Order: sequence, then C-alpha cells, then structure tokens
Amino acid sequence: MTMICPHCKHVTNRRSSLEQSDVTRKAYYLCSNPKCSFSFVAFEQISHAVKQSAMPDQSVNLPLSKSKRTKQEQEEMFNEVHS
Ligand SMILES: [Zn+2]
Repeated sequence: MTMICPHCKHVTNRRSSLEQSDVTRKAYYLCSNPKCSFSFVAFEQISHAVKQSAMPDQSVNLPLSKSKRTKQEQEEMFNEVHS
C-alpha cells in the first residue's frame, strides 16, 4: 500500500506494521522526501468485501460492497436500519 505524504506530497515508505485484528493493521510510514521526513501511523482496515471468499471464516463478518448487493439485499438492509 502506498500513501502520499500529506505535507509535501511525496511518496511515503511503509516501515513496519502490526496486526491489530483479522481485518485491521497499524502501519508506520516515513516520507521519502529527506527535506520533509514526516513520520506517521495509519490504521488500515478491510471495510467491505467486493467478492465473498470461497473459503469463508465464520468469525469474519464483512459486508458486501454496495454495488455488488442485489436490490432485495439493499432493501432488507434499509428496512433493518429504519425499523
Ligand atoms: Zn513529506
């Protein structure tokens, strides 16, 4: 994963990362611009599935991308939220 430095807009280098959960990592980044040298932490999280796994782990519960849901699934989710 590449992130752009929010200060000087150069590419940053990912120095290391730690697993926080099955879907979250804490990553440490350093700006590649020696005149900037901004260092920061970013949390990377799997937010939703684009295609479900063919080998699903039942403990992993990620919603399917909105664009991949059927109209009926979207209506069911809308009704759950608004009931
Ligand atoms: Zn920078």
